[in-house]
Amino acid sequence: MPKVIKGFIEETTTLGFPEAIEEAGRCYLCHNAPCQAASPPRTDIPGFIARMRSRNFRGALRLVKESNFFPGITSRVSPYDQQCEEVCLRKKFGGPIRIAELERVLADYDRKSKHPYLPEIPESIGKTVAIVGSGPTGLAAAVELVLNGCKVIMYESARLAGGVFTNGIPSYLISDEVIQHEVQSVLDLGVDLVTGINAGESINLVSMKRSFDALLLTIGMGIPRRLEVTGGKKGDIFTGTEILESLKLKEKRLRLGEKIIIVGGGNVSLDVATSLLKLGSGSVTVIYRRDREQMPVFRTRFSNAVQCGMKMVYRAELKEISCNDQGTITRVVCCKTELKEKEDSRVVAQPIEGSEFSLDADTVIYAIGLDLDPNLIQLFSLQTSPEGRIQVNPATYQTSDPFIFAAGSCVEKVDTVIDAVAKGQLVARQIVAKVLQD
Ligand code: SF4
Repeated sequence: MPKVIKGFIEETTTLGFPEAIEEAGRCYLCHNAPCQAASPPRTDIPGFIARMRSRNFRGALRLVKESNFFPGITSRVSPYDQQCEEVCLRKKFGGPIRIAELERVLADYDRKSKHPYLPEIPESIGKTVAIVGSGPTGLAAAVELVLNGCKVIMYESARLAGGVFTNGIPSYLISDEVIQHEVQSVLDLGVDLVTGINAGESINLVSMKRSFDALLLTIGMGIPRRLEVTGGKKGDIFTGTEILESLKLKEKRLRLGEKIIIVGGGNVSLDVATSLLKLGSGSVTVIYRRDREQMPVFRTRFSNAVQCGMKMVYRAELKEISCNDQGTITRVVCCKTELKEKEDSRVVAQPIEGSEFSLDADTVIYAIGLDLDPNLIQLFSLQTSPEGRIQVNPATYQTSDPFIFAAGSCVEKVDTVIDAVAKGQLVARQIVAKVLQD
């Protein structure tokens, strides 16, 4: 029987204050702290931990927010265990300091307080910047611009602001309440938000150049890729982003089968697999062309998915989708791959002729990456890089049109939301430097 997928609630837990203070007490408060260097927004980790130790939670939160305005979100969904916690000098002595959990305690304390923290807004410098896209990079850029005296107007095509925060992170990892609180805290700085816009119809570059001092594109990669394989009808073939969005926004209900095949080995595959298994899907198998070592995934997301019952088929690629006479998917045909290491150390997978095998299936989900929306690139007449992203000057983040800046995954591979936040801060500093010169 097809299953109608519904949502679920956040499962992450937070330390209590006594445990958090005890954990903060384990920190060596290192000088030249390696954890800070490994934190993409360079959060002053020993600094905020020192304040927590002296029970100055508000001061600690302020210090975190000076470098990362979204600690409630990043502490839940970014792989701190592979970044700042990975290099913690306490790692060999009782385990690394639980930096993510400490930040989460502070963010939750702030969210539940009567007067959540808002930084002081400086005097206006008389410059206005438009941002298209309200995901982590756009939001972080907006904060940085406002705190440098710029007026910001943000345009978003979806109904709600937040980009991947709002539509791409499963609710068992983070509740909507946490996301909306931190997105709203950006708007509370005085950022104007226009949602539900169709860029092609609503944005005119000539009038934008008259109205704004700079334009920043943080549009992400909006078009999910699909494989060109034979077989299957559209209703039984989905994309990973489509599934995650339908679970998050609950605006569209998808009917899935019981024998689900996911193609692709990234975090989206794992999030989709975990989500569907938590919702009771019979079997979920992920097909990946390479080995576990090459999967660009977070360790915890992988182990969660395995614990939920995800099956992996490594070194295999999809060749064909087989259907019965009614056009319903019955099996997928795959072939095995062999791995070859290139001179630049990249591992490429090549199909092995005559190695075909098949798997039972009734639903296929592609989670093989995203492409740029070509209409937006055409609209702004921008040059793209060989890998199909917006070409920018790496020092200034300016595109082929110097009025337009671009940052985030539309420009380069961005692995985590905290990296996306850091990119937003970097591009905003370049915009401030440019508009002050004009
Ligand atoms: S490296 Fe570890 S022990 Fe040192 S300051 Fe950072 S969190 Fe504390």
